[in-house]
Amino acid sequence: MPASPLHLDTPLFRTSTAYSASNRPLWLKLDAVQPSGSFKLRGVGRLCQHEVENGAREIFCASGGNAGIAAAYAGRALGIPVTIVVPQTTSEEVRQSIAATGATVLVHGSVFDEANAHAIRLAAERKAAYVHPFDHPLLWEGHGTLIDEVVSGGADFDCVIASVGGGGLLAGIVAGLKRNGLSHVPVIAVETEGAASFHASIVAGQRITLPAITSIATSLGARQVAQHVFDLPKEHPIETVTVTDAEAVSACLKFADAYRILVEPACGAALAVADVHPDLLARFKTPLIEVCGGIGVSLEKLKAWKERLL
Ligand SMILES: *Cc1c(COP(=O)(O)O)cnc(C)c1O
Repeated sequence: MPASPLHLDTPLFRTSTAYSASNRPLWLKLDAVQPSGSFKLRGVGRLCQHEVENGAREIFCASGGNAGIAAAYAGRALGIPVTIVVPQTTSEEVRQSIAATGATVLVHGSVFDEANAHAIRLAAERKAAYVHPFDHPLLWEGHGTLIDEVVSGGADFDCVIASVGGGGLLAGIVAGLKRNGLSHVPVIAVETEGAASFHASIVAGQRITLPAITSIATSLGARQVAQHVFDLPKEHPIETVTVTDAEAVSACLKFADAYRILVEPACGAALAVADVHPDLLARFKTPLIEVCGGIGVSLEKLKAWKERLL
């Protein structure tokens, strides 16, 4: 029998029609209330459990934040040591949150790719398990549980809106739709300008590596999406769309005022679509938005972004 999952079955609720410019009620899947602060625990927890079942005694992960805290949480729940390698760009608060969850935090490299290479190297040296933040089939299987929950709750939805970094969440949603017989339900994949590696790749018809990430939505800051994610539009209806950092921050503020919950701009990006691209939602009746959450936010940060961008 598989071990019980580490993530929570999160609330799902419906906004009023007047909540957004789309003029539609929106289903909101509230993964911001996962114990790790984001949906990441679904897949990272699944992968860490698998590694431990297969004998791992130690876990290494590279992350700029939310995957790291999810791995730290999973390691604590599973009773094994976890080391998270973060790049220098990861804020002191996020490093402290990861450490407070019980993991060892190592700072290496100026960008994620350097931190990631270091985590892979250390895991190999120590014969420990290495957990990728977005590129592994078990992560996608785990992330797909969010769709299982929405379906078993009986909610009718006719499209899914979710943000994209490296694309693990998108791959998980597609996997979840597929296993629930919903392969016809389109996914709207959202990125902020300055972090739009998936959108750029779809437009170019080849997997693009962005020269740099210039968006404040750092959780979407994968310079390149996973190959599997680039290939997904061949098997599932997916549309890509971008919003600005300012639009993402506005959506965070509106959501905070309406529901009294803080989310990162990475999550605000998905929430923003219903206001910024109502045309895109015109052919749908009941969109589902994955409220992916994130720990890289505070009242102070939101206030600073508001002053700078709005
Ligand atoms: C990781 C993350 C994303 C993007 O997920 P990917 O699997 O990298 O596409 C979006 N929002 C938040 C809050 C995240 O932590």
